[in-house]
Amino acid sequence: MAVQDSSGLHRALGCDMAAAEAVAARYPLRITPYYLNLIRQAGEPLRRQAAPDIRELEDELGMSDPLGEEDLSPVPNLVHKYPDRVLLLVSSQCAMYCRFCTRKRKVGSSAMRFNEASFAAALDYLRQTPAVREVLISGGDPLLLSDGRLEEILRRLRKIKTVEVIRIGTRTPCTLPMRITPELCAMLRRFHPLYINTHFNHPAELTAEAARACALLADAGIPLGCQTVLLKGVNDNAEVLGKLFCGLLRMRVKPYYLMQADLTQGTGHFRTPVKEGFAIMRQLIGTISGMAVPKFVLDAPGGKGKIPLTPEYITAMQDGWLEFVNWQGLPCSYPLA
Ligand SMILES: *Cc1c(COP(=O)(O)O)cnc(C)c1O
Ligand code: SF4
Repeated sequence: MAVQDSSGLHRALGCDMAAAEAVAARYPLRITPYYLNLIRQAGEPLRRQAAPDIRELEDELGMSDPLGEEDLSPVPNLVHKYPDRVLLLVSSQCAMYCRFCTRKRKVGSSAMRFNEASFAAALDYLRQTPAVREVLISGGDPLLLSDGRLEEILRRLRKIKTVEVIRIGTRTPCTLPMRITPELCAMLRRFHPLYINTHFNHPAELTAEAARACALLADAGIPLGCQTVLLKGVNDNAEVLGKLFCGLLRMRVKPYYLMQADLTQGTGHFRTPVKEGFAIMRQLIGTISGMAVPKFVLDAPGGKGKIPLTPEYITAMQDGWLEFVNWQGLPCSYPLA
């Protein structure tokens, strides 16, 4: 896609156009006018998420498919990693292409085709695999499909009785909140139990428009969660994340995961040291509502799954006692048996 300089795009993005062209030739560029306007107001932490950076082309360490998703796909666009749930990729499009995306290899590319043949194969797989209780619909972003297309996907999934729960992953409440309409919510609520996990990374993203989008979804009885990615120069401190998580709770969105950045090629400049994540969690746990504190997780390379990264509270287990410190660092003990 050619980067055209309309409406002061390059000024808002603060990058030189030749570099942006080079990066966008490999990893597509897309920003909504809504988010561009937020960048103008909030600056760097939002700009970094959306603006191409020449370092995307210089990352030697990263892997194109860090979570080994292609090897875990029994049929195209369906990733089966855990016994009871699968990930179904239904769209390659997103409202905005986040520069740190784990599926950078796929998003915005025509290589990912979700068509009738691959959907039929996925439905067949689910019918033959009754252990799968939950289908997580993601992409790309499922809400970049039309209401009609999404409804058809949900209707055909719901016909499979062993699929108990449907979960949609979408960033549109953050990047394109006007996508959430009363009509969409009226359609979605017919497919309960339906959950939505969204994706906010910074308190400046919690606008009136985003709050309205989340309220519409929550009023349709859809439990909302948030998967935040820990990103250098965006949200890598406890004060920013505390504001984000408490703000999400006010919008009836439960912070679900704080994710250590994956080893995705082209995203190395976003990665934070693991120890920093532990330090941030230490500052948040106990200080803000437990409801506002997500699980800090690492998605293990090669498709080995998400593991919790919990700061160390236990100092010893000996002589019949569990020794630990509390959230303030005060020593405590409790009998082991
Ligand atoms: C993250 C993920 C899930 C969902 O995991 P939860 O811990 O239940 O949120 C399912 N399948 C794949 C392939 C995933 O990467
Ligand atoms: S919305 Fe999600 S899938 Fe799409 S580019 Fe951003 S992080 Fe990747």
